Amino acid sequence: MFINGEWIIPTDENSFWSYDPATGKRIAKVVDGGAQDAEKAIASATEAFPIWSQTTAYRRAEILKDAQGTVMERAGEMANLMSREQGKPLKAALNEVRYAADFLGWFSEEAKRNYGCTIPSARADQRFMTVKAAVGVVAAITPWNYPVSMITRKIAPALAAGCTVVLKPAEATPLCAIAMFEAMSDAGVPKGVINLVTAQDPAPIGEVFVNDPRVSKITFTGSTRVGRYLASAAGQTMKRISLELGGHAPFIVFPDADPVHAAKGAGLVKFLNTGQACISPNRMFVHESIYQPFIETLSERTQKLKAGSGLEQGVSIGPLVNEAAVEKVEAQVKDAISQGAAVVCGGHRLTEEAFTNGSFFAPTVLSNVTPEMEIYREETFGPVAAVIPFSDKDDIFAMANDTHYGLAAYVYTKSLSRSYEAMEKLRFGIIGINDINPTSAAAPFGGLNDSGLGREGGIEGLEEYLETKTVGLSLV
Ligand code: ADP
Repeated sequence: MFINGEWIIPTDENSFWSYDPATGKRIAKVVDGGAQDAEKAIASATEAFPIWSQTTAYRRAEILKDAQGTVMERAGEMANLMSREQGKPLKAALNEVRYAADFLGWFSEEAKRNYGCTIPSARADQRFMTVKAAVGVVAAITPWNYPVSMITRKIAPALAAGCTVVLKPAEATPLCAIAMFEAMSDAGVPKGVINLVTAQDPAPIGEVFVNDPRVSKITFTGSTRVGRYLASAAGQTMKRISLELGGHAPFIVFPDADPVHAAKGAGLVKFLNTGQACISPNRMFVHESIYQPFIETLSERTQKLKAGSGLEQGVSIGPLVNEAAVEKVEAQVKDAISQGAAVVCGGHRLTEEAFTNGSFFAPTVLSNVTPEMEIYREETFGPVAAVIPFSDKDDIFAMANDTHYGLAAYVYTKSLSRSYEAMEKLRFGIIGINDINPTSAAAPFGGLNDSGLGREGGIEGLEEYLETKTVGLSLV
């Protein structure tokens, strides 16, 4: 843990292990923090806030820029650690470290563009203006699937705005969080401005975060279930809230699209991070006229994907985070098969010798998925592509919108009119049109409905950490 600029080292009495999900082997011990540690960390962030929030935006920007440099210098070792602790292939881990560094870079620049405005008044002797103020102490909770970029996506804008932070990372990936905090602290983030509380049991920490009056804002990325709890509990003390929750992305392939190109894109985005992403496509709607070539290309490419430890050469399917994740994926696949879905490839756990101690599921393509199946409604978070044919008679946008989530949606079409229609009719926060990577530190990321509240990244990402004060001034 890192509180008030000091590292707290794990002891035998007060620690838990971080594991490699590909082998089930222990990697290192981490401090098992509790409610009292969360309180100490909040005290430290509270003490640091007046000085940090009054530090010039230019100085804050410099420190963030230096942190970006330090993270990039350590990209290789951070990616290696991430592959071991989280399981993603090394190349994907390197991409994530770059993405994490991008947030530090982007918000170091935005720190200097924290503009207010002047507003005309109806009274001749009056002037209006707005000034922006840092929200205060921020409590952040991050997930394991993107274990470093989700940290900087919260900390970089918070620090740019002048806030101080207490962060609790996911219990599955505390080492990645420690590496990121080391980089930021070594780059010169002052004592108390960022604090890290690692814990095996998140509940007591969460409880302190939502109840402590010194915390002004909660920012959370994770499941809708936990997000709902945090938001409602934090309502008692009226904290600001940002939530980036689950998704159930539709991926629509219109008849004018090239089915081979679309299937290649579908395979790339579906199996990224072994399907453990909130923007992973969960329902692939493919027009019946191009259904066959789409399925053929997708399954051909899926069968070529090699599973294994992220550190092995040529691996693109890493382990799932744990056994419970494998069970969930397996249950969804079994349910779909029992209701008539066809397994085009995969469809089972990987149990051969190399996989026995890890949590692996074969990359899978399911055809003829229907609305009655669990996979059509529930987030899979695993390597299963669920494909659904549609015809001209279907209202495809209504079908795509038929979910309580609203994070990402993907569309393949060559028609400009269709693209506009998709943009306007799809009720999702992020829409990729012939684009499987509609994300960037410079672009807002977030969802509608059960996918959450607020946006991260982009100009909007800074606003989440700012209050607007209106000043009315009477001339005398
Ligand atoms: P997942 O099921 O994908 O692991 P979670 O929402 O359980 O998603 O986890 C995301 C983050 O939320 C993790 O850091 C986890 O420790 C944290 N978390 C889970 N339960 C709570 C809770 N009751 N209070 C605070 N944080 C929690």
